[in-house]
Amino acid sequence: MADSLIEELAQKLRIIPNLDREHSPESGAALRKFPSPDDWHDHVELDANEWPKRVERRYSLVPTTCFNCESACGMLAYVDKESGQVTKFEGNPQHPGSRGRTCAKGPATINQIQDTERIMHPMRRIGRRGAGGWERISWDEALDEISAKIRASLKTGAKDRVVYHVGRPGHEGYANRILKAWGVDGHNSHTNICSAGARLGYGLWHKHDRPSPDHANAKVILLTSSHLETGHYFNPHAQRILEGMMDGAKLIVIDPRLSNTAAMADHWLPTWPGSEPALFLAWAKMILERGLYDRKFMQNWVNWEMWLDAAHPDEPRTFERFIELLLEEYAEYTPEFAAEECRIPVEQVIEAGEAVINAGSRLCTHVWRAAAIGNLGGWQVARTLHLLNVLTGSVGTEGGTAPNSWSKFKPELFDNPPDPDGWNELHYPPEYTLSHYEMSPILPHLVKDGRGTMDVYFTRVFNPVWTYPDGFSWIEMLENEEAIGCHIALTPTWNETAFFADYVLPMGHASERHDINSYATSAGKWVAF
Ligand code: SF4
Repeated sequence: MADSLIEELAQKLRIIPNLDREHSPESGAALRKFPSPDDWHDHVELDANEWPKRVERRYSLVPTTCFNCESACGMLAYVDKESGQVTKFEGNPQHPGSRGRTCAKGPATINQIQDTERIMHPMRRIGRRGAGGWERISWDEALDEISAKIRASLKTGAKDRVVYHVGRPGHEGYANRILKAWGVDGHNSHTNICSAGARLGYGLWHKHDRPSPDHANAKVILLTSSHLETGHYFNPHAQRILEGMMDGAKLIVIDPRLSNTAAMADHWLPTWPGSEPALFLAWAKMILERGLYDRKFMQNWVNWEMWLDAAHPDEPRTFERFIELLLEEYAEYTPEFAAEECRIPVEQVIEAGEAVINAGSRLCTHVWRAAAIGNLGGWQVARTLHLLNVLTGSVGTEGGTAPNSWSKFKPELFDNPPDPDGWNELHYPPEYTLSHYEMSPILPHLVKDGRGTMDVYFTRVFNPVWTYPDGFSWIEMLENEEAIGCHIALTPTWNETAFFADYVLPMGHASERHDINSYATSAGKWVAF
């Protein structure tokens, strides 16, 4: 799709994403069936409902995104020029992450927009909280009443009693900017029941706490969850995993379930949940024993000298000695040890391991949630998985795994307010000194123990009553008007948590909003609106 020589050159140099993918010309050709951007202002289609008559309808095609998961796939909203209404959504072939493809939830966004039970107006509670009584109020009333409560809280000097608890963000840090401007430590997230484990594992390696895999160019794709149908970045990953496989990449899937992804794999290793680090360390040992590590990469990028100084101050400070000592360190992680821990045959450990250790700089690995958050110490899954990339030098390479921030655009906000001069112990209790992200799963329990209260509590597309393991604890907290002075639910549709709010404020769906989106869904940086 490169229109000019410069774009073609930029694609080849990987400065911009290659939408055509030069070695799969047939997929590029298929995408040309989408309406050309030149016609988006006045696209003509026959009205299917009028068939067999040939009645033309004229549309404006407006680029937008789906956000039914964090992939933020590009879509085109078909706006009927006569009625001004969105009549359908299709994939946007110009979106570099999704390249015109969506999963079934993308086009189904039309059902959310037209949902007959959608919240269309601000609502205020009548009667007891949770009793189910509501009245419609104006935006002016809602804003006046809620802002008065925020103001009253701020005037007490408290730094931790106005809280904004995010389920699905999508505003690139803007809400946090406002909280900081108010001087409160008020941001809470869902991350500790989601990605915090994997984030910690990656963050300890290189601060960037998410991976960005280049599946399409990999020699070996190593997944520790089910990316083809349910995993994180599902559609953008799935299409690139398949491209990689069509180019000969081997797919290794670590998953206790025979998921759709596992069913497509060359090697499916149904490891005992939580045992994955044993497998990765056994493969790390195989790499070291065979001398298959990328010496240049490790010498340059691993703080091996610091490790020698700290752990073996009397040893020679040479890279060779470092490798020998590392082998001693990992001596117990034999394939037999991994097989026993993971409860899989040792032959499987060795056979899949041969593929991994010989992938060189084109070893593409990924883990998100699942193993890394569902098990105690799950952060070691991400940490040991990324060790394989570090040893093989497949960090930031073509066909390897890059830090996410290489592929995600993060806007610099102007006039950033200073961080609040306060600490919210309901979010980061001092006894959890190593918590990575807020300890939101225990929020109702901390409140129950009298550790704090909130004057104003916003929940934004966040439904813990339904999604957290102990929903009834959340109901107990939300019903307690002493603990939560005012609860405001920001949501496009009714949900179990909004039921226990004082105000419910309607929100636009992703396709109707104007936030920017940018996610590390592939080896390339993109921004969408
Ligand atoms: S993969 Fe996610 S963002 Fe993409 S269409 Fe499906 S639900 Fe929407």
